[in-house]
Amino acid sequence: MSDTKIYLPESDIPRHWYNVIPDMPTPPQPYLGPDGKPITGAAMEAIFPPAIIEQETSSERWIPIPEPVREALTLWRPSPLIRARRLEQALNTPAKIYFKYEGVSPAGSHKPNSAVAQAYYNAEAGIKRLTTETGAGQWGSSLALAGQMFGLDVRIYMVRISYEQKPYRRSMMETWGGEVIPSPSNHTQAGRDALAQDPDSNGSLGMAISEAVEEAASRGDTNYALGSVLNHVLLHQTVIGLEAKRQMEIAGDYPDVVFAPCGGGSNVGGIMFPFLADKAAGRDLRLVAVEPASCPTLTRGHFAYDYGDSVGLTPMMKMYTLGHDFMPPGIHAGGLRYHGDSALVSQLYHDGVLEARSVHQTATFQAGVLFARTQGIIPAPESAHAIRAAVDEAVQAREEGRERTILFTLSGHGHFDMSAYDRYFAGELEDMDYPTEALETAKANLPKVEG
Ligand SMILES: *Cc1c(COP(=O)(O)O)cnc(C)c1O
Repeated sequence: MSDTKIYLPESDIPRHWYNVIPDMPTPPQPYLGPDGKPITGAAMEAIFPPAIIEQETSSERWIPIPEPVREALTLWRPSPLIRARRLEQALNTPAKIYFKYEGVSPAGSHKPNSAVAQAYYNAEAGIKRLTTETGAGQWGSSLALAGQMFGLDVRIYMVRISYEQKPYRRSMMETWGGEVIPSPSNHTQAGRDALAQDPDSNGSLGMAISEAVEEAASRGDTNYALGSVLNHVLLHQTVIGLEAKRQMEIAGDYPDVVFAPCGGGSNVGGIMFPFLADKAAGRDLRLVAVEPASCPTLTRGHFAYDYGDSVGLTPMMKMYTLGHDFMPPGIHAGGLRYHGDSALVSQLYHDGVLEARSVHQTATFQAGVLFARTQGIIPAPESAHAIRAAVDEAVQAREEGRERTILFTLSGHGHFDMSAYDRYFAGELEDMDYPTEALETAKANLPKVEG
């Protein structure tokens, strides 16, 4: 066995991010303000630095990565591309399975790729503090790390149920100097209103976003940072796909199909957009986002304008959505429990360039355990969604007696998710489909806009 791991030298960390917008068949719809009109860059200046606002709407295909950001990325990049030979053997499949492993970052997922860029641009603009939200804690820990690297204070509104259930993610954020506040909290109007309604509220990602945005908008020294969904976040994540393309080339292979778990769409965009440029140029390949059946944003949501948070403080985005008042069922892949999705991923899915499928919770853990027992790495429950899809594809290749090259992102490791594995082993995890009535209610509550 040779060439199981393909490492690149540091000099191969990309020097540019790839912006997919010029290669989209339909450009993304503009973000809308409360008056239903497209928002201007100036309206975003209360919470974002100029460089980020520019990236959000740029039509440049290649955007240079500033040297201090590239230097920060060298702490863990380039990440390895690994051929999952032991998984292939266990499945007795003729398919070749490759994965790009993002769990090598200090926070254990792909999220620091954007966190360091966002911290850099904010520090450069003279900002002293960042606010953000976190669900399971992966984004919060990534931003705490990045804030520390670029000299910014970071306040993290953490969904209360996760704050209580995932004490070690909180310790991690505090170790990197972050301040962690359970949400809903008394620090903001949005939080106080939520607590007045329900003092025992578990919180939600949408609520934590409302709190973080409200605070950032009300203070001149403070900006807001988001870990997924927005165009600039997906842009920063394209280092994943750019490296992976180079690594596949070294392996002498090219994927027939690429899978990634999909929450807000940042690791989907990260690995898939650089390949999408080839697809746009006529190459035959499938790009498939994988989401939970209990939070089926792309596969069952509405393609409509909606808010990014629960209170309606963010601009409206044209995206697939389960409704901004979505209350997530308690599944364990916390990072995939968001009501909306990236506008770029949504538009590309709507246009048939990207595909999507949903998988059930127990099937993802089953695939995650198989992966841990063959390849050794214990995957994050989010990442196990992509593993499930890759395993199904490899089994299909065996049944059809056909070769196939499969690539997926292993977006993170699961070392902070072991209680979820415990519950899986104890047979306590349930498979839930998102109720159709809830989809109908969500539709009725969407903001009314033309378009
Ligand atoms: C946050 C997270 C995801 C989902 O977020 P995307 O923006 O859709 O990538 C997936 N995997 C891991 C490990 C995460 O931390």
